[in-house]
Amino acid sequence: MTTAAQPPSEGVVDRFLRYVRIDTQSREDQPTVPSTPTQWTLARLLANELEQLGAHDVRVSEYCMVYASIPATISGSVHIPTVGFLAHVDTSPAVTGANVNPIVHRNYQGGDITLPADPSQVITVAQHPDLKDMIGDDIITTDGTTLLGSDDKAGVAAIMTFVDVLLHNPQIRHGPVRVAFTADEEVGIGIDKFDIAAFGADFAYTVDGDTMGEVNDETWSARSATVTFHGTSAHPGTAKGVMVNSMYAMADFVSHMPREMLPETTEGRQGFVHPYTGVLDIAQSTVKVLLRDFDVSGIEEQERLLRRLAGESAARFPGVSASVDVAENYRNMKEVLREHPEITQYALDAVRRAGLEPFTKPIRGGTDGSKLTFRGLPCPNIFTGGHEFHSKLEFNSRRGLEKATETLVHLVQIVAESAGDAA
Ligand SMILES: [Zn+2]
Repeated sequence: MTTAAQPPSEGVVDRFLRYVRIDTQSREDQPTVPSTPTQWTLARLLANELEQLGAHDVRVSEYCMVYASIPATISGSVHIPTVGFLAHVDTSPAVTGANVNPIVHRNYQGGDITLPADPSQVITVAQHPDLKDMIGDDIITTDGTTLLGSDDKAGVAAIMTFVDVLLHNPQIRHGPVRVAFTADEEVGIGIDKFDIAAFGADFAYTVDGDTMGEVNDETWSARSATVTFHGTSAHPGTAKGVMVNSMYAMADFVSHMPREMLPETTEGRQGFVHPYTGVLDIAQSTVKVLLRDFDVSGIEEQERLLRRLAGESAARFPGVSASVDVAENYRNMKEVLREHPEITQYALDAVRRAGLEPFTKPIRGGTDGSKLTFRGLPCPNIFTGGHEFHSKLEFNSRRGLEKATETLVHLVQIVAESAGDAA
């Protein structure tokens, strides 16, 4: 193993503090990628910085995706796979990302952290017991009025610093490396515009996780259902015997959702069904329902349940009919990754070399890697050190950012060694 002799030209914390100040909030229900023009600002900045660092083939696509290559430092007969790393430039539509004012709490000495611009916003030890392991670290928070954007500018800063380290240390032995920064991850539409063939990696990692040491190779399988009850509209003055009000069937249906299968009653590996929005009208009432499970059999079970409940509710209200449309959103990447266990193992070994205890945890959500994995680019997820994503209480730390960066530097060396490179 080679350790980095030359430090990066800019530390990961300084990069992070620079990137979070750039507003890159994405927006729901927009037809184009990127959904907001502000994402171009960070994408172009990153492309310029990659050029200055000496990365090869730097380009920004028409969809605001940044691509770059770092050539192998090993030549010869050993074939070393090409490894990719991705992070997303956008931040969640849930909380404003304008005028982010990051606060560095140097040498944290324990206790709750009150955010200065809004004292009602408090990061508490009770809710974050891992703060007890962060004594002496520099904790980075917002001022309480915005999100931090650690999701995923921590991943962006870690990858940029990793590129910086590799290009300043040609003695580090690694194969070909690709990096990319994507748009519109938070609104789920960006990754469809990602050019896997042009990226040219054999496998990749998103750097978009949370707790230090964590690697994720398992996400939800996700479907969404649209349940519609059809009735008959009529003028209320002359409605007797004619009107069939679909709202009653809808209310009946929603009230029959199994209590033990909801987001508010499940955790860990349990799936859920989640009615989250709808429209009530006499002639037609519609509700949208998220179906989530780690196993395909579980999600198919949920789909059958939903269809049965919709049919039963319609049957209780003569004249009402029900229709159920189900669409797949993404699938559990584990279905593919279990065929390539070495890809997750490289990441776990890299975490250990970075001096942390590695662990895996299924994500109760999806990542860009969920779709990439099924499109032919196996892609687990690596921690960034961030916490409380999509909220004003979002925070990260110097150690989190530095360990994420170190993990990537170790990972490319482990891949080279595993391919048979003997330094
Ligand atoms: Zn993210």
